[in-house]
Amino acid sequence: DRLIAPTARDREDHLDRTVRPKSLADYVGQPVVREQMEIFIGAAKKRREALDHTLVFGPPGLGKTTLANIIANEMGVSLKSTSGPVLEKAGDLAALMTNLEPGDVLFIDEIHRLSPVVEEILYPAMEDFQLDIMIGEGPAARSIKLDLPPFTLVGATTRAGLLTSPLRDRFGIVQRLEFYNVADLTHIVARSASLLGVDMEPRGAEEIARRARGTPRIANRLLRRVRDYADIKGNGQVTADIADKALNMLNVDERGFDHMDRRLLMALMHNFDGGPVGVESLAAAISEDRGTIEDVIEPYLIQQGFMSRTPRGRMLTQNAYLHFGIAMPKRLQE
Ligand code: ADP
Repeated sequence: DRLIAPTARDREDHLDRTVRPKSLADYVGQPVVREQMEIFIGAAKKRREALDHTLVFGPPGLGKTTLANIIANEMGVSLKSTSGPVLEKAGDLAALMTNLEPGDVLFIDEIHRLSPVVEEILYPAMEDFQLDIMIGEGPAARSIKLDLPPFTLVGATTRAGLLTSPLRDRFGIVQRLEFYNVADLTHIVARSASLLGVDMEPRGAEEIARRARGTPRIANRLLRRVRDYADIKGNGQVTADIADKALNMLNVDERGFDHMDRRLLMALMHNFDGGPVGVESLAAAISEDRGTIEDVIEPYLIQQGFMSRTPRGRMLTQNAYLHFGIAMPKRLQE
């Protein structure tokens, strides 16, 4: 189990709800997204309309679900939540949509994983607030049309490119979340610490922030583990030194990389001599599935300039060789 996995774990739900921001004002970082959403939400409210359908994409743990909830809060409507793989039949989605009140937010996580039949009924629902479904089977089957109240679909996905273009085109607002910088993550950690009643020095927050892979969910998780360490090995106060020792013990290095990152970088270095190598071969070398590499592991390594994605495959960069103190092959030094 990966400590710094950016995906949620069930047991964390409760603590997560305690620290999850509820308004745009509390949504730290993402200045472009925040500024735009403030305007779009304000305008929709002024016209007393439902907000346009909104697609939010970005790696796991960056705040897509949080943003969907904030949209509903700021609009003063309810949010109904589901996810792509859960909706197996057209009827599953129809049941949800016929329960919406005017202006409500329907949040579909992992929207790229909708089945084609479900996606098909989503189009007229998004466009004309019309539900067009078949009921019954065989000769008795007939199609019925239902009017839906105007609603806002908020879809979340890790990469915009995973969506079919007809689906993507039906979103009026598209927001891309970026990895958070250390200052923003420090702010998030300090805020969570104060909500959880953790005694923390500012430099303790910064140490956690630097090692959280640009991801709020990971920052909050590291905070909880560091708090445990401070309670047992220290006097409960999270200082920079305590944070550093706790994170070293947890095998999260000073760049925030863990064993998965190191395995991937090492495989690229030693099995493939720095690349370029196709993602499938890389996945086989570290026994990880391709989707996890593409969505979870490599985006941060690429953003940090440790590897790059080229038309011929994945390649290590000079930074990676420097980080591990290994000479870069001549072939790769241009
Ligand atoms: P995603 O849906 O993208 O996987 P979430 O919205 O579930 O991510 O975010 C994970 C956690 O990170 C949230 O519960 C929240 O506590 C924290 N978080 C996310 N974005 C922010 C933000 N902009 N400011 C403060 N905390 C955030």
